[in-house]
Order: sequence, then C-alpha cells, then structure tokens
Amino acid sequence: MTTYKGRCECGDISYEVTGEPLLSGNCHCRDCQRATGSAMAAVMLFPKEGFKLLQGEAKYYDLQADSGNRISRGFCPNCGSPMFSLLEMAPDAIAIKAASLDDPTLYHPAMHLYTSSAQPWDPIPDDELAKFPKMPDM
Ligand SMILES: [Zn+2]
Ligand SMILES: [Zn+2]
Repeated sequence: MTTYKGRCECGDISYEVTGEPLLSGNCHCRDCQRATGSAMAAVMLFPKEGFKLLQGEAKYYDLQADSGNRISRGFCPNCGSPMFSLLEMAPDAIAIKAASLDDPTLYHPAMHLYTSSAQPWDPIPDDELAKFPKMPDM
C-alpha cells in the first residue's frame, strides 16, 4: 500500500493517506475552476479510513455542487490552499487535491470530468483517458 503525504502552501496543514485512490481525475467544473483559480482541479478520492490529519485543521466551506449534491471544500485558513473536499454523495471518502502532495508525480489521472466546461485556454488533451461531459454515474 502506498502512503501519500502532502501539505498546504504555508505548512500549517499536513496530512497522510494510506491506500489507493478510488478515483483519480482532472475536474474541469466551474466550482473547481473558481476554487483553484485555474482551469481544473486534479483530484484523488480516497477511503476516509486511510486518511490522517498530521497537523492543523482545514476550514470548510459548504456549497451546492453542479451535480446538485452538497460538497464541503476544505482549505487552509492561513494560506488559503485548497486541500480537501467532503462529498455528500460519497460520505466515506475524502477528496484530496493532487497538487498538495509532496510528490505530485504519484498522481495518475484516469479521467477528465466536466469536459463540457473545460476552458479554451486549457483544452482537454487528446489522450487515452476517459472523458465525461459532466459527472459519470457512480
Ligand atoms: Zn496553509
Ligand atoms: Zn470539479
């Protein structure tokens, strides 16, 4: 089993998660674009049981996602780095922003989500990954 470690920009929050991701994908939805200030969020979904907060505490902001489900976005209250998401549709899982990993090369996306809102200045690459215009059925 792999242990993934990561932290926010300022280092107040650090975490580790042991296990393998249930899902890894680049999400191009408008929520992720706003929350990251970028074209997409690289997200890994893990079973909550393998997750351990080593230091600090994220502040959570709740919103209604494009899918209609509630989502709780966790970020560092000091430096603002987006870190985690808790999903109403997957209560036993935690989503982690792959770029917060100490070694982001451990992230291997399997799909592109919400390609319908991908930005023209960061087009979906013509790669072999699965592509979904919105959220795939889970
Ligand atoms: Zn921070
Ligand atoms: Zn998204």
